[in-house]
Amino acid sequence: MRTLVTILCAMRPEADPIIGALGLEPHEPAWDPHLPMRCWRHPSQPVSLVINGADRRTGVDLIGTTPATLATHAIVQHMRPATILVAGAAGGHSGRTAIGRVHLVDRAFHHDRRIPLPGFEAYGMGPEPMHGTPDLASAFGVGIATISTGNSLDTLPGEMDFFERHGVTLKDMETASIAWTAAHSGTKVVALRSVTDFFDQPTPEHQFLANFDTAVTNLAASVARGLPALLDSCGSHARA
Ligand code: SAH
Repeated sequence: MRTLVTILCAMRPEADPIIGALGLEPHEPAWDPHLPMRCWRHPSQPVSLVINGADRRTGVDLIGTTPATLATHAIVQHMRPATILVAGAAGGHSGRTAIGRVHLVDRAFHHDRRIPLPGFEAYGMGPEPMHGTPDLASAFGVGIATISTGNSLDTLPGEMDFFERHGVTLKDMETASIAWTAAHSGTKVVALRSVTDFFDQPTPEHQFLANFDTAVTNLAASVARGLPALLDSCGSHARA
């Protein structure tokens, strides 16, 4: 069965509650088995799930923009879904969101691509457009927010200014790269992110560990709630 929606998670523990909630089963990936990404599939619906996999050298989950780009390219090339549904944790702005709250993303900046050369500034910072409509937000039962992607868990003072300037509520390590990669094939990217920590408060790493279970439980509930509407929208798109 052709996949209409591929859910993409960076970390295995982000994926586990979703795999459980949807009843997904492990599946042989369509790509070179030496690549780290792993795959699950729904037994009867056109839904699959991919995780970035584990690092060969250290064994940890492959978070960050490089593995996200690789996974997105493989998904687009070998699974050809209508939509990639990004599902994961995120840092949040303490004044604009709450721990465990899930958001649908409307656009994704890159906050650590500072390139003050003519023309390159706009390329560096984005934002990448995302598919985040009010209809989808209500189907998932969440609000809409703007995200920014970089490769660090902590936040530099200049990055905090960037977030204020661009009204950024969420911060992660994958979304903008996934959107950029998928745009080459016209694959729609929908992103749901659940807040594990406040990026404007100290020690996001401690907050992340303490709040992770709550955040990914809420994330899986939102995915399960909105997926039928997302499949409907892909189905009518595919038939059109
Ligand atoms: N595995 C580490 C931390 C994971 S990094 C640990 O166990 O401590 C966090 C993951 O969640 C990334 O994939 C990123 O997309 C997202 N994330 C959560 N909080 C974040 C923050 N404050 N800044 C950037 N990314 C964050």
